[in-house]
Amino acid sequence: MNQEELLDFLLKELKQRNGGFILHQADSSQAVVLSVQRYQELLNQALLVESNGANIQIKNLFPSLEPQRLKTALVCGAGGFIGSHLVRRLKSEGYWVRGVDLKNPDFSPTAADDFVIGDLRDPEVCKQVLKRPSLPGISEGPFDEVYQLAADMGGAGYIFTGEHDADVMHNSAQINLNMAYLSQASGVGKIFYSSSACMYPAYNQLDPNNPKCSEDSAYPAAPDSEYGWEKLFSERLYLSFARNYKLNVRIARFHNIFGPEGTWQGGKEKAPAAICRKVAQAKDGGEIEIWGDGLQTRSFLYIDECLEGVRRLMESDFIGPVNIGSEEMVTINQLAQIAMDVAGKQLTLNHIEGPLGVRGRNSDNKLILEKLGWQPSMKLKDGIAKTYAWIAEQNNKASK
Ligand code: NAD
Repeated sequence: MNQEELLDFLLKELKQRNGGFILHQADSSQAVVLSVQRYQELLNQALLVESNGANIQIKNLFPSLEPQRLKTALVCGAGGFIGSHLVRRLKSEGYWVRGVDLKNPDFSPTAADDFVIGDLRDPEVCKQVLKRPSLPGISEGPFDEVYQLAADMGGAGYIFTGEHDADVMHNSAQINLNMAYLSQASGVGKIFYSSSACMYPAYNQLDPNNPKCSEDSAYPAAPDSEYGWEKLFSERLYLSFARNYKLNVRIARFHNIFGPEGTWQGGKEKAPAAICRKVAQAKDGGEIEIWGDGLQTRSFLYIDECLEGVRRLMESDFIGPVNIGSEEMVTINQLAQIAMDVAGKQLTLNHIEGPLGVRGRNSDNKLILEKLGWQPSMKLKDGIAKTYAWIAEQNNKASK
């Protein structure tokens, strides 16, 4: 392509983009918007260098200024644990992000460009948040991507006692019914839905040493909680919208995600956070309580790995459902030992009655590896070290 053709090509591109050029900076959350005029100035400089014999392509001269339209995402449940981390991740990739939740994130201010406090059980709220405002270089319209993480949920102490079953089913199903229907009606580019390993049948998770959670083992369905039944229903809801209305969906089944800035006290916390808190609060040589005999097995996935999986799934052509979890299975007693090692404390485990969930569960990563060419690899110990440090700090702050 000679200089004239190059200029012609770029000007045509500019016109298609409403006269503005949105350019991502690879390493910052700032998207740069250049006017046609400024872009032409840069182009002229590049051509000047080129015509001086440096033989540099414009792409190479401004590697961080690759022309690209600003991407936009709506994160539902952005005030929650995974949602607030996801917003940060999307911002680091240069997205314009709107978050929506009943509440702000608990531990640090949101990184979203726009944050709406709203109840997604209300279809009017869903309609409003799905309307993306006009942004530099793009007029008002649908979001490129929606991440639907909002759910009424918590750890074993919340979802396995039976006390919250009606709320869990009603609230989460209502959110998903709204979001599936209105996302397709508003024309979103793609929607991600976070399902859970809790949808797998209980009968495959009786043997703690050999649980079966491959994606194809979901049926005949027999989740052990109403939370799991709602997840299964909503998976099918999104898949039927994909089939009948061409809604572009991606579905992942998360397995026990943990990390800093997750709920760590109050009854909705999950096992890794609860154990880190108990260890942080115990004096060396003391004891902590563990629900059941502690021989039930699980695997736990660090938040950053979860987000990597979500983003890779969204960028792929694979709809799912696919497991996003770790294959490093441990007993709850072993999890406690890891936390004790990280803390440098030796404690006695006092086994007491408590809600337990299935006897064994582990992610099966064959499918994710096959479809995405990737699987999580971080060691549980490394994730617990980061999480323990954060929870110990929260605990210190709270006890002052
Ligand atoms: P979370 O409870 O921290 O986040 C969920 C968020 O949804 C909360 O901030 C809550 O306020 C919000 N929400 C609830 N009802 C709402 C409503 N009516 N309108 C607007 N917002 C509402 O949970 P999380 O751990 O971040 O999980 C995110 C998603 O991933 C959930 O769908 C959950 O079921 C799924 N998941 C999580 C795990 C895990 O280990 N964390 C495992 C499997 C699946």
